[in-house]
Amino acid sequence: MEEIERLSQLIIQSKKVIVFTGAGISTESGIPDFRSPGGIWSRYDPEDFTIQKFLSGPAARRTIWRMSVEGGLLTEAEPNLAHHAIAELHQSGKLDCVITQNIDSLHQKAGVPEDKVFELHGNMQRVVCIGCRRRFPMLEVLQRIKGGIEVPDCPDCQGILKPDAVFFGEALPQETLREAIRRAQNCDLFIVIGSTLVIYPAAYIPTYATEAGAKLAIVNLTPTPFDHYAAVVIRGKAGEIMSKVMAEVRLS
Ligand code: NAD
Repeated sequence: MEEIERLSQLIIQSKKVIVFTGAGISTESGIPDFRSPGGIWSRYDPEDFTIQKFLSGPAARRTIWRMSVEGGLLTEAEPNLAHHAIAELHQSGKLDCVITQNIDSLHQKAGVPEDKVFELHGNMQRVVCIGCRRRFPMLEVLQRIKGGIEVPDCPDCQGILKPDAVFFGEALPQETLREAIRRAQNCDLFIVIGSTLVIYPAAYIPTYATEAGAKLAIVNLTPTPFDHYAAVVIRGKAGEIMSKVMAEVRLS
């Protein structure tokens, strides 16, 4: 496939590559995305994930915690070929960082160091206290729920506990966003994998890269509003495509 060759060449010619990922990179690990048929929005009400609803009272929080126990949690998922291809890019010395909309920790599980993963929408493996901002491992809190506490509170200050993922209506972590933008403005290749690029402000980030002169590549099953700015667009499954791309890079 000519596009695979083209993306491999772009990687070979680049020194600082950023990979920007969305829910589509993790569907091959068995985690549904939001918008595809059978995706999360066909099973849950997006309204339940607004911060306003979460803070409205214990009944709303009970719903979210019940969903977390029922397997919204992603702890068993394993990285797929696409996550491994990105980890290989890191080992080759070309990866500047990963900027991700995902909350599943699969980049880190594949071997990308923590300080190279910028999580724009937080992380579902942690829980944060809205009062004192202390963080706890999700598994610890789930144990308490399984032990009979329906709506857990902070063991230190009795504040409201919330999964450390960004809910609708919440601001993105500002420090992470600022650093992601700064990195985007300093890379020479920006590869988007598995994102519809419709959730803002995350979807602005490719623009920071292209305006500063970086080449843009997009690997996604379906079209995105940014396709016409890209030097290469590959329609296909992230795992299949990225493993072929890295096989070409390895040969060079
Ligand atoms: P999205 O659901 O809007 O879009 C996912 C995109 O990936 C779609 O365009 C789809 O065509 C494509 N896709 C699906 N499977 C693919 C595959 N195997 N290979 C290549 N492309 C594939 O997701 P989004 O744009 O990332 O935004 C939704 C938000 O949902 C994110 O901000 C994220 O926070 C959250 N989310 C995260 C996870 C996760 O952590 N794994 C899962 C669901 C949703």
